[in-house]
Amino acid sequence: MTQWLAGMPKAELHLHLDGSLRAPRLLQLAAKHGVSLPYKTVEEVEAAYNFSDLQSFLDLYYLGASVLRDAEDFYLLMKDYLEVCRLQNIVHCEIMVEPQTYIPQGVELSVVLEGFDKAIDEAKTGWGQSVKLILSFLRHLPEADCLAMLQTADPYRDHFCAIGLASAEKDFPPANFQTLYREAKDRGYELTAHAGEEGPPAYIRDALQLLSVSRIDHGVRAVEDDELLHQLAADRVPLTVCPLSNVRLCVYDYMSEHRILDLLEQGLCVTVNSDDPAYFGGDLLENFAALESDLAMSKEQALLLVRNGFEAAFLPSEAKIALDEQLQDYLARHP
Ligand SMILES: [Zn+2]
Repeated sequence: MTQWLAGMPKAELHLHLDGSLRAPRLLQLAAKHGVSLPYKTVEEVEAAYNFSDLQSFLDLYYLGASVLRDAEDFYLLMKDYLEVCRLQNIVHCEIMVEPQTYIPQGVELSVVLEGFDKAIDEAKTGWGQSVKLILSFLRHLPEADCLAMLQTADPYRDHFCAIGLASAEKDFPPANFQTLYREAKDRGYELTAHAGEEGPPAYIRDALQLLSVSRIDHGVRAVEDDELLHQLAADRVPLTVCPLSNVRLCVYDYMSEHRILDLLEQGLCVTVNSDDPAYFGGDLLENFAALESDLAMSKEQALLLVRNGFEAAFLPSEAKIALDEQLQDYLARHP
């Protein structure tokens, strides 16, 4: 089935571009800019991927992102991920970009986007890649800082389809970001937020009610709240679930404990995504493969998950219909 899924057109909706920075590229860029890291080899970097929780991951993640300094770095980062899309038939991707991460290094948003634009243009003309960017905010920073970045992004409004809220979840509830989300909504952004990964189900409710999001990133802790599950199913609120990430960050001890297929069977619009593939041991296809090997996912379930990815995308309905036609065409040739 992995072969069948590899060729199938798919969407990925929860991917932090900094989380796709692989160890060889990390070391190359650190050497280029003379950034001193506590790791000298690919093996040493990868040995540090043994996380105990979200925060232990974030410490390494921000250290890794600190090597990104000029437009060429951002071009290479985007190009590397879009190449994965080509290889794994991820025909549509929605990529989370977190410009606040680069502020300590003094990198301007214009520099970041200059690199991204070049790589995206090449992928669009090269193989027709569909790409959207999500302007993602760091919730461990004050809301005032996030509002300042929202304004900084105003001249680049067309680059982003949505805003998101990432980084440390515990102690940084959705309620802290109501002004940010209201301002973003006024500017016409689609709205999504991380909720219910390490934070409680109440954060999912608050993201929906206080921030008016139409999509939830992760959301797996909804399983603890039956009433919330019913609401998510009834409203078809998409959850962008990241199975390998959840196991690496100890939300579940083993993949066999993951509840994604239960949520699917209960009628929720769950999707499969890789989150930070360089750090969590696999890209989108490896996430699907883990569900097959550890949860005995059926072909029907795999297909539903892929269809949910198209349904949940921040795309106009014509574009979703076109994606579905690509899928139908593939299934006619590979039933
Ligand atoms: Zn995430």
